[in-house]
Amino acid sequence: MMHGIAVESDQQLELPENRLLRQLQDVLGDYLEQEHIDEIVRAYHFGAEAHSGQFRKSGEAYICHPVSVAISLGQMRMDMRGIMAAILHDVIEDTPVTKDELADQFSSEVAELVDGVTKLSKLDNKSRAEAQAENVRKMFLAMAKDLRVIMVKLADRLHNMQTLSAMSAPSRRRIAKETLEIYAPIASRLGMNKVRHELQTLGFKALYPNRFEVLDHYVKKSRGNRREIIETIQSSIQNRLDQVALNGKVAGREKNIASIYQKMRYKKISFHDVFDVYAFRIFCETVDECYRALGCVHNLYKPVPGKFKDYIALPKANGYQSLHTILIGPYGVPIEIQIRTHDMHKVSESGIAAHWLYKSENESNESVKARANEWLRDLLEIQKTAGDSLEFIDNLKVDLFPQEVFVFTPQGDIVKLPRGATVVDFAFSVHTAIGNSCVSARIDKKLVPLQTQLENGMTVDVITAVWARPNPLWLNYVVTAKARSSIRTYLKHFQQQEAIDLGRRLLEKELLAINMHLDQVDPTRIVELLDALQVKSMDDLLEDIGLGNRMPILIAKRISQEDVNAAVKLDDQVSHHDTTPLIIKGTEGMVVTLAKCCRPIPGDSIIGYFNPGKGIVVHHHECRNSHDVRKKHTNWLDVEWSEEEASGEFPAEIRLELMNQRGTLATVASTISSMESNIENVTVVDQDDRVSVDLITLTVKDRVHLATIIRKLKKLNIVLKITRVKA
Ligand code: MN
Repeated sequence: MMHGIAVESDQQLELPENRLLRQLQDVLGDYLEQEHIDEIVRAYHFGAEAHSGQFRKSGEAYICHPVSVAISLGQMRMDMRGIMAAILHDVIEDTPVTKDELADQFSSEVAELVDGVTKLSKLDNKSRAEAQAENVRKMFLAMAKDLRVIMVKLADRLHNMQTLSAMSAPSRRRIAKETLEIYAPIASRLGMNKVRHELQTLGFKALYPNRFEVLDHYVKKSRGNRREIIETIQSSIQNRLDQVALNGKVAGREKNIASIYQKMRYKKISFHDVFDVYAFRIFCETVDECYRALGCVHNLYKPVPGKFKDYIALPKANGYQSLHTILIGPYGVPIEIQIRTHDMHKVSESGIAAHWLYKSENESNESVKARANEWLRDLLEIQKTAGDSLEFIDNLKVDLFPQEVFVFTPQGDIVKLPRGATVVDFAFSVHTAIGNSCVSARIDKKLVPLQTQLENGMTVDVITAVWARPNPLWLNYVVTAKARSSIRTYLKHFQQQEAIDLGRRLLEKELLAINMHLDQVDPTRIVELLDALQVKSMDDLLEDIGLGNRMPILIAKRISQEDVNAAVKLDDQVSHHDTTPLIIKGTEGMVVTLAKCCRPIPGDSIIGYFNPGKGIVVHHHECRNSHDVRKKHTNWLDVEWSEEEASGEFPAEIRLELMNQRGTLATVASTISSMESNIENVTVVDQDDRVSVDLITLTVKDRVHLATIIRKLKKLNIVLKITRVKA
């Protein structure tokens, strides 16, 4: 009895550092010799002595921290010297103990490891960013010599993140940010996915506590609803594997909150789109079984084309191996499947740590380590050429974030964009006004079109023009949310204004034909009309007309007749012939567009076609499409070029038959550009020994300009035949 009580009170009084030491010894007992453990305990006493009188923000003795770090490395089966370095990792930085002393007391190897994780001091005259960069650079040099340096550093960071709540809010944010930007990606690059997940989750939670909570709540709530369907899918797959006597084991897989958030942000999709994907893993004994299991699930559920990835034959840069596929499951739910062997799984969880954790046995451990070393050697090369530490960090980030590209402004500022980003994305990321007026760019002094995809290290100089404005086609290739939403906003506003203006002109034109003026219509009559049409405002009505959703002539008739409420029947045979044509400039923008099929230019006789929701498309009178248009009587209207105002550059297309000799196309091109015209496109349609048939799109002011160019080209003796293309 008495004895029992004594033990109990002993435990109550046990200091946390003693409890941790015991825990460490337990962990180490699983894989180290007693004499090595004794050596580690000696390091513990040395460290505890050096740190005595120092406390963590939580109030515990400081030594608790390095011992906790040592425990997590012990769980990865780190060797004796690595564990000793973990216990002593802060003594050089935070106590009077020197590197030489450590070498004397323990070994130069331990001293080197501790020195590797020690931050550089004497960086007082540098900014925080520079000091941070300098320290990361130093750490990389040390880890290139010995990978255990980064293992200690990651375990150190993990424990600091686990105990982050003791820190002040600004420190929490700074440390969390650095963890997400540097340490989690390093863990990922080294294949240590378990550590990476933990760092990401802790970092995300510290940086965005509210978002974390909301997502956490959702995940927990959704989990219940999903259980049934997960079990159904899992057992169907398992049954199928069993049927064909395949040695595979199916397991459900849950995504962590940080990666759900990443996906939502990066792909701009909702929580449900991320979370409603059902993820499973199949563990097999051999590589051969992996491929057979793949065939088996593809037979069970339909695979989504283009989603299969073979990371077994082609491992990822960090050594990761698996087969990935996406299937369409019951009720159409998407199912993500990863298929791998148990050995591949170990590597995918612990990466280079597998080297210590699963000593020798399989060769993929060795290949992971070889890859890590290769990566570090590459970084050392980079570091030799990098001017300063900040530059080194930028280079490092290029390497750590393969899903991003880093490019430069002409001033040398770095801009970070997602992979696949184009010149337009870049322009909007610099400034909305630049995006709104960009026309092309110069990349490394070469002129490139807007849809050019950017690559790491490019210097991008955006060329803008006052007349330029966002084009709906850009939406096909921009990838950043900023560019997308800016373009949409601009177009929406711009198109609305244009539609209103055009609608007013169309309505006024029809009213004029019956001797009325919009300004002179009785306001109460307008109110009655809007009421009858159930339209909120005159602007809304005009916008509708401009977009081609309502015929201006019908509205004009309604305004003119006795009772605005009476429906109007239109005799469309005559409707177009008693009004004056609509005058266009050709530069109206989005509600008046020039047809691509016949490319009308000022001076051509033209015809307009109402394209509901989009406005008016202008065709050449001779265009075949315009003949089709005229069959639908109500949808077309007479248009004419404005004589004074139709100015600008209009694209036209010509077809040339040239003698197929060297330099003919160059002669044609220089002739065209000498006539103040730009070539927009050249296509060689047909070619034999004698003749080459080419289509050239060029810009002209009007019909006269084009005729002059054609005349001049005809005089070249290499031109056999030339015609304008009008569809
Ligand atoms: Mn530490």
